[in-house]
Amino acid sequence: MFPRPKVGEDLFNPSQGINMQIKDIPVTGYEKIVSAELVPGVTSIIAVHNTHLGPSLGGCRFFDYHSFEDALTDVLRLSEGMSYKSAMAGLPLGGGKAVIIGDPGKSKSPELFKQFATFVNSLGGKYITAKDVGIGLDDLGEIAKHTEWVRGTAAPGSSGDPSPMTAYGVYRGLQASAQFKWGNPSLMGKKVIVQGLGHVGYDTAKYLKEEGATIFATEINPAILKKATAELNITPIGLDDWQTTQGDIFCPCAMGAILNKQTIPRLADNGIQIIAGGANNQLHTLQTDGKRVMDAQILYAPDYVINAGGIINIACEFGGYTVEKARSKTTKIFDTLLEIFERARKEQKCTALVSLQIAKERLGLM
Ligand code: NAD
Repeated sequence: MFPRPKVGEDLFNPSQGINMQIKDIPVTGYEKIVSAELVPGVTSIIAVHNTHLGPSLGGCRFFDYHSFEDALTDVLRLSEGMSYKSAMAGLPLGGGKAVIIGDPGKSKSPELFKQFATFVNSLGGKYITAKDVGIGLDDLGEIAKHTEWVRGTAAPGSSGDPSPMTAYGVYRGLQASAQFKWGNPSLMGKKVIVQGLGHVGYDTAKYLKEEGATIFATEINPAILKKATAELNITPIGLDDWQTTQGDIFCPCAMGAILNKQTIPRLADNGIQIIAGGANNQLHTLQTDGKRVMDAQILYAPDYVINAGGIINIACEFGGYTVEKARSKTTKIFDTLLEIFERARKEQKCTALVSLQIAKERLGLM
């Protein structure tokens, strides 16, 4: 068991003396949603979806959204996803997320991050922040100067970059999928198509190489692709070729919503039998596309289960972080996925739906 995080004496009690205009946005199914203008023209939203299992934890995304509504939609979706991710990873954490609406290239300043930290403080520990798209470790360091409710910083004793642990979890998930589909966890000789060789994809490809898989990879950044060709012996393919290359496993590590009406039949036609990768929100629609994948006889490893290594890594800070502890918790993604696959087979349901059911049971929502 993970120790329940202690992040302050007055957990869940808003700190006193916060001098900031904070607006409540009531949304059914969410515990708390608040917004505040941090500095003129830059607004932030924090969404706390569920704290049934513990304080909510999720990264802060800094992004130039088209509108406040777009940002709200994103933070709602992401915070709900965090509830399911932590619940499935067996963590004593709830789901939350923050967004800052602005151009991260132009709007960052120490004052902005100080104000964001104050905004986080206003929730008194109900929400703990971390890194996400658009936020670097330096930014997190600025935030950490003004709030204790931040994790995954570069400070000594902190867990730092979660990506290597995410990749390790994806690797264990790939093995679990192989075990269930082919009765053997080995990936030796399997043809794996990797989309995206960033922080997660590159390290995942390293594990695949060590296992003796044959890797085909697509990546926008030509320098990364060149490096991976030299270091990992991958075969580079074009940006859309993941849909037309014959293989055994598709490992998406870049974009969301890539599994849809058009792409799923193409993957099946190319012999793909497993979809297991680190990207968030892979299914365009959970119910319809989840079923579509199942009907195509493809085994799908639910994204928030297989990519939970990063949040597990952060959760290991509570009670004292060591990389060994984080690895031994992350390795259990293998068993969690097998449990989902078995139940899906028994109930004749798609794995995405079964995973959601289990998560909701754990959250007391079913
Ligand atoms: P990253 O930005 O480091 O890597 C993404 C890579 O994908 C980049 O190199 C980018 O050039 C490439 N890419 C983007 N679009 C592409 C496309 N259409 N075709 C080919 N390549 C493309 O991000 P990351 O941290 O590696 O995260 C990858 C995915 O995993 C994201 O969906 C992220 O939300 C998810 N994820 C990451 C973590 C983590 O710990 N970093 C944890 C959980 C989930």
